[in-house]
Parts: sequence; C-alpha cells; structure tokens
Amino acid sequence: MLEQLVQELAALEAQALRRRLQTVEEVLPGGKVRLGGEVLLNLSANDYLGLAQDPRVIEAVQEAAARWGAGSGASRLVVGHYALHEAVERQLAAFKGTEAAVIFSTGYAANLGTISALVGPGDVIFSDRLNHASIYDGIKLSGAALQRFPHRDLERLEQMLKKVGGKKRLIVTDSVFSVDGDLAPLTGLVALKERYGAWLMIDEAHATGVLGPRGAGLAEALGLASRVDIHMGTFSKALGSLGGYVAGDRGLIEYLHNRARSFIYSTGLAPPVLGAIAAALKIVVAEPQRRTYLQEESEKFRRGLAAAGLDTLRSESQIIPVLVGENARTLEFAARLRQRDLMAVALRPPTVPPGRARVRFSLSAAHSREDLAGALKTIVAVAGEMGLAR
Ligand code: PMP
Repeated sequence: MLEQLVQELAALEAQALRRRLQTVEEVLPGGKVRLGGEVLLNLSANDYLGLAQDPRVIEAVQEAAARWGAGSGASRLVVGHYALHEAVERQLAAFKGTEAAVIFSTGYAANLGTISALVGPGDVIFSDRLNHASIYDGIKLSGAALQRFPHRDLERLEQMLKKVGGKKRLIVTDSVFSVDGDLAPLTGLVALKERYGAWLMIDEAHATGVLGPRGAGLAEALGLASRVDIHMGTFSKALGSLGGYVAGDRGLIEYLHNRARSFIYSTGLAPPVLGAIAAALKIVVAEPQRRTYLQEESEKFRRGLAAAGLDTLRSESQIIPVLVGENARTLEFAARLRQRDLMAVALRPPTVPPGRARVRFSLSAAHSREDLAGALKTIVAVAGEMGLAR
C-alpha cells in the first residue's frame, strides 16, 4: 500500500501539485512570522484584523480556561453545553441580528453539518461553482441533487431555478470568495430566492468582522440580513481563533441541534476558544477603524497591482489574487517573493480550476502602511522580472 501512496505523491510532484507543511518558528508583531530562520511579512493568513495576537483576546482565553477548564468534556447534547456556550451563542445572535445561533467546532464542520441536515435525497442545491470545499463536501454528504451555477451568474441560476424542482430548494454561496476575493451578487440572489421560493444560505467566513457597519458581514453591509435564511461563518479568520457558526431563526437552530451530525457527535467547543470568540466579537463591534483601515489598504494594494498590469481578477476585498495560470510559474513567483521576505502562498488545482493558478495575498489590519507599501513595490518588481504583466 505504501508503495502505491509514494507513487501517487511522485505523480503530484511531477505536476507541481505536491503540498508540504512549512513550519512557522515564531509569530511576530505586525503580521510577520519567522520561517526557515527568516522574518517574513505574512500575506497568507486569514487573521484579517490581527485579533489572533490581541492581548485582550489572549487574556480572555486565560480567564475562560481558569474558570471552565481546557475542554468541555462531552458533546453539547450530553453534558458539554456550559453557560459559557449559551452566553457566547446569545452574543453571536445579537451580533448577527438573528433570533438564535449555534457554534460548531470549525467552519468546515458547520457547513458539513448544516447542509447535510437541511437537505437530502429529493432536494436540490444550487451552488456557486467557486464555493468553498466544505460546502461541496456538505452537499455530497447530503445526497441532494447538485446544480452548480457558473461563478456569480444570476442568469444561469434563474434558468436552473425555473427548470429544476425538488421538495426543498437551497441556494448556497460564499459571500466573499476565498480564492478570488470577489463578492457574491447578494441583492440578485435574494431577489431570486424570493421569486422562486428557495432558501438562501450564505457563508460569511471571509466577511465576518470585515464587512458591514458592525462587522457582521456582507448581508449586513447591503441591508439584506433579514432576507437571508441561513447565516454561516467562522471565528477562524478575522475573529482570530477557531470555530464555525450558523445564525438564523430559532426553529432553524433547534433543528440543527437535532439533525446536524457534526454538532451532535462532536465535543463542544473548548472554553478557552469561547473566551477568545467572546472577546473578539466585542472588539469587532467596538473598533470599526480596524475594518476601515483594512479596506483602505486593500483598495490601494489592488490599485497598485492593477496599475502594474497584473490581473487581480474581480477582487473587491482583503483577499487579492494575482493570476499566473501555470502551476510551476506560480510556484516560482511565490518562491521569488519568499526570497524577498514576503510570505504568499501559491494556489493550485484542485483549490482553483486548472490553468488558473495564482498567488493569493491576504491583507490584515496588523500590517503597517509601510510594510504594505514595501510589499506592493516588491511584488510589482518580481512580477516585472518574470514578465507576468498582461
Ligand atoms: N468557508 C469558507 C469560505 C472558507 O474559506 C473556510 C476556510 N478556509 C471555511 C468555510 C472553513 O472554515 P474553518 O477553517 O473554520 O474550518
């Protein structure tokens, strides 16, 4: 068996598709890391507001551990549902403006459990082609029929909604797309779901903490929160720690308590992480300047790359791709940036479609203006050396 696995790895290597773990030796202030002995500006993390290192969040972790312990000891429905879980879920529902909310151990578990609980054989899911892998895994597990619509294509979605019936129909989309950094056409999606009597679920993993006046996400930013049925998101990105959530009507949340297997058969989130979430939620609401800074710097960064003739696709967020195309060239671009002290990861298939490999830059409020301006200059220079401009 091992020989077969080694052969498969060699095949991945030959296509420049083999992945390897890289060890971060130290996390440093200013959104930097030490890796291979070098200090690098980390443009690959999802800690968009710099909260993973915030002293107030760390203190809340310590307090929650001191009071409640390291783990919750059981699944939530057994005896692992502490007053702390209840308080944080209430805080989350208030933040999202919904009746109720439920926390899963990861965003991945939230998508897997929620989608497979809500739909099944005989039902239909309409899913944007570029939705996150955890959404696709949830769909597979559900047994519902999949209608994959082209990225952000409302016309095609409408044609599918007209044609394809089912007992239940669920439209699902990322709100900020994780590899392209562009936004879902939420106004149009809400109109379609209302016109055709479907449900709408949005994954705000990369928008939570970042978009909207209070940081609740794209639905809040567009004033559409009350017209979305299922609000999913994570605490693992801008909120700086770990965990996934679903917010919505009380009936939905109580249904998930009873039917979402990744919730039912998994240990309740650990108290220290709940401490981090509670503190981070407070900061997100109280310090909108973090997202304003992030948005301004992201805009500057995108404009700078575009001015140098680089293709940033349709990014409108802190996730800014530079399209390269070929796998080996993309790896070379990332390697050259690394030599110039910039950490940015090459995204290759199957994370992106074949021929669409790219280097993705993720900006954070932890990055200083000076470091970002320097990074932009370096990226443009390296892209110039490699002839990547359009
Ligand atoms: N949804 C999206 C859009 C994501 O990008 C991710 C994480 N990359 C997830 C869900 C899964 O979240 P988590 O990392 O918290 O499991």
